[in-house]
Amino acid sequence: MDEIRIEGLKVFAYHGVLEEESKKGQDFFIDAVLRLSLQEAGVSDDLEQSVSYAEVCKFMAETMRENRFKLIESCAETISAGLFRKYCRLQELELEVKKPQAPIDEEFGCVSVRIFRKRHTAYIAYGSNSGEPEHHIEDGIASLDRDPMCCVKRMSGILRSTPYGGVVQEDFLNGVLELSTLYEPLVLLKKLKEIEKEQGREETVRWGPRTLDLDILLYDELEMKTDELTIPHPDMCNRDFVMKPLAQIAADVMHPSLHKTIRELADAKMEKHVI
Ligand code: ADP
Ligand code: MG
Repeated sequence: MDEIRIEGLKVFAYHGVLEEESKKGQDFFIDAVLRLSLQEAGVSDDLEQSVSYAEVCKFMAETMRENRFKLIESCAETISAGLFRKYCRLQELELEVKKPQAPIDEEFGCVSVRIFRKRHTAYIAYGSNSGEPEHHIEDGIASLDRDPMCCVKRMSGILRSTPYGGVVQEDFLNGVLELSTLYEPLVLLKKLKEIEKEQGREETVRWGPRTLDLDILLYDELEMKTDELTIPHPDMCNRDFVMKPLAQIAADVMHPSLHKTIRELADAKMEKHVI
């Protein structure tokens, strides 16, 4: 992919763990590689079709000056989230924040952090059947969309369904949304759990009543299995209340391990019911 490269942007700012750093300040240097297609801009000679490096430099410098972080990791993450939000053309970003005057007792050349970020597409299922389900769903989704690392792109309709797993309880409202996110899968899961908590979710019995449940169904073409997180969601194909709304917004998306589209998997599920 094409690149716009910026090297050695110098900004005086006040980031650091030590109190002295947040009082005295020091120089930081930023290198950035922005990946995007530059062909349209090249053919038309029109800056509107590209990203202005002057504007990017101004944005990065202002972000460094207007905040006071302990970590250069946070400087990099905040700049990255801001650039992706500002420029929809931006596909991938490499960013290095250098701190050559860091308070280290040994002699050293420079310390820095370097991050690699890109937009990921995740499909998230939501469900609620206690408290005020419409309110929890609306609030939870708004909170996700407000996160600088996330953007809700599409939403299915909301489906009313009878509960699953044999516990006697209220009907569920369920749906699915498409999320564009800079979060890696485990960090996304942590964020979703925080939003569930905000909406008052408490640990109850498995498949029991809940104010808000947020599950990751798919994440790009990723397949992963750890104690904490399995992607694609292992139970998604058995759940009508997931497959129906997912098929509304992701019919042509491939299930990475079953090698079938969501439409095919949803249709197969409907046929099973008819028989
Ligand atoms: P469920 O969503 O199956 O009704 P919970 O919401 O209580 O049940 O989830 C239990 C645990 O499942 C979570 O704490 C999480 O660590 C784990 N988990 C594994 N894979 C996923 C996934 N794809 N999405 C969300 N949670 C997951
Ligand atoms: Mg869950």
